[in-house]
Amino acid sequence: MKQKDEHNPLPSRYWEQEFIAQDDAHLVAPKVRYRCPKCESLLLQKEGKNGVFWGCESYPNCDYTASDEQGKPVRAKRYLCPACQSPLRRKSFQDNAFWGCSRYPECKVTVEDDNGVPTTTKKYPCRECGHYLVRKKSKNGYFWGCIEYPKCNHTLNDDKGLPVLRRKR
Ligand SMILES: [Zn+2]
Ligand SMILES: [Zn+2]
Ligand SMILES: [Zn+2]
Repeated sequence: MKQKDEHNPLPSRYWEQEFIAQDDAHLVAPKVRYRCPKCESLLLQKEGKNGVFWGCESYPNCDYTASDEQGKPVRAKRYLCPACQSPLRRKSFQDNAFWGCSRYPECKVTVEDDNGVPTTTKKYPCRECGHYLVRKKSKNGYFWGCIEYPKCNHTLNDDKGLPVLRRKR
């Protein structure tokens, strides 16, 4: 058996294997790429007002966005309409964002937005018509209004997110 050479301490076969293994590792290592489920373009990590999120490379042609969870895009959580159980959609209007039922205009339920999450999708039975009351915002603050509005205009006051009976005056 030959003495190991200082400048070439390992047998060449070893290097060959090492090289192959290394190359493999490098091929697997690059960042995982995520594709937009809507248009197949790449998703890009972006920094928004509410933190990191994923947006489509084809924005503004494609408006797909996803939330970020430990560096991966995850579909935004689904919130359901308190009245008809259809998904709620987040909409923005000027500086205001709110959630509206995806069955609009058949279902006119809207829910307040709080940092990308609907404030409440709780429903409260309407004593007038048997439908539901949902939390709404007016210029005087929050209140609970019937989803059948304007057919039914039963409302209750809001106290920290819960409906309370209106005080008799
Ligand atoms: Zn897209
Ligand atoms: Zn609905
Ligand atoms: Zn009602």
